Amino acid sequence: MAVTGHASVKSRGGVSTLAGRWPLLGQRRRLVLYLCAIVALDLAAIVVLGASTAFRWQDALTFGALMACGAVCIEASRRLGMPAGVSRDLLSAWWLPVALLLPPVYALFAPIVLQILLQVRVRATVLHRRVFSAAAIGLAGCTASLAFHHVVEDPWSLSWGSGPPILYAVAAAVLFALLNIGLIAVAARTADPDITWREVLWDRESVLLDVVELCLGVTVAILCGLNLALLILALPPVVLLQRSLLHAQLQAAARTDAKTGLLNAAAWQREADTEIVRARRTGDALALLIIDIDHFKRVNDAHGHLVGDQVLVGVASTLRGQLRDYDVVGRFGGEEFVVLLPGADGVEARQVAERLRTHVALMAIPVDDTLVRVTISAGVALMNVHGDDLIDLLAAADLALYRAKELGRDRVCVPAVQPPQSPPPRSLPHEPAS
Ligand code: GH3
Ligand code: MG
Ligand code: MG
Repeated sequence: MAVTGHASVKSRGGVSTLAGRWPLLGQRRRLVLYLCAIVALDLAAIVVLGASTAFRWQDALTFGALMACGAVCIEASRRLGMPAGVSRDLLSAWWLPVALLLPPVYALFAPIVLQILLQVRVRATVLHRRVFSAAAIGLAGCTASLAFHHVVEDPWSLSWGSGPPILYAVAAAVLFALLNIGLIAVAARTADPDITWREVLWDRESVLLDVVELCLGVTVAILCGLNLALLILALPPVVLLQRSLLHAQLQAAARTDAKTGLLNAAAWQREADTEIVRARRTGDALALLIIDIDHFKRVNDAHGHLVGDQVLVGVASTLRGQLRDYDVVGRFGGEEFVVLLPGADGVEARQVAERLRTHVALMAIPVDDTLVRVTISAGVALMNVHGDDLIDLLAAADLALYRAKELGRDRVCVPAVQPPQSPPPRSLPHEPAS
């Protein structure tokens, strides 16, 4: 498993934890305790297993060759850069064979070597994340290694091609992945208890990647056992896979607002444009909302920017949670959000906007011994009523938002003045909803 860069599970559950959302004081203390416990366990395992492992040149050579392949992989994808936040890689292809073929202590060292390389050569991230990642991967690999060596007397028999050792190797690889996911999921839940276990543990893309890593790891272990030189054949495809994986992650990161996980303004605009062109062609209804947090500056002034950021994350996740999968929601900038509702007419758009307003008002962010609450104002614009392209709709919704602010905030408005060329709205009253 190779969730690296951050001790977070965004790649698994679509949530921002250690990397994005700043945990509250009590949670932070528990998180620090947990991280320290895992690192201490890792160090203890290194001392105990190191003392009881006999040194063999063949083991050291195999370890060196696999780490060299890991280093080549890191170097070959280094220039692509790394997406902000959490990223996945295929380094398991190299540390899984270490766990299967070599004495268990080597599985504790392998992630340390590669995490140091990542830190020095790719991106210098917060040190405790690297240390935790190395410890979590090390402990998972070491446990899988102990289990495999317990049932398979000669681990190099993996390359004889007989069924049982290969099956045990697959089982050990599954154990390795599950333990690593589990250790990281506990950290994520400790940082943010609001995330559900399902969110942290289940993500179809991540599971697919885990399976790919498992297959690669076992295959490389078999090749390695046949002849160490065969690693040269395994290296190019793994490098290529690693590069395309990074490329896909970089593309996704370029579309996403790092703080909230929503689409950023440019990506939202592209998707919104596509939906508007489609609605124009098919004649379907469509609505656009601009949402702005009321008096957000006061939240920052009273509680600081970190709490302000938590409010932004909270509002973003409330919006996402209240919308359909195919509604297009993005962060427009600062404390402003934009939502495109394909298929929504005036009545439905107002209902949705009201629902969002109500749910945000119910949201409470605990800070020290108080709860921070915010309200939102929203401007609604309707396709073919207030405009038929993105610019017109944005301008109309912005006008309505301005009106909502003027009328006292915490409300939903539609534009009071129609553009001269637009037909008058049929079903919408032009009064604020509240
Ligand atoms: P109004 O109800 O009129 O919208 O008042 P407001 O205070 O929400 O609006 P104003 O435009 O005066 O202030 C917006 C504030 O949002 C100011 C800016 O510092 C803050 N802000 C913008 N982006 C971020 C961010 O990413 N994090 C935090 N914490 N604050 C941000
Ligand atoms: Mg604003
Ligand atoms: Mg505001």
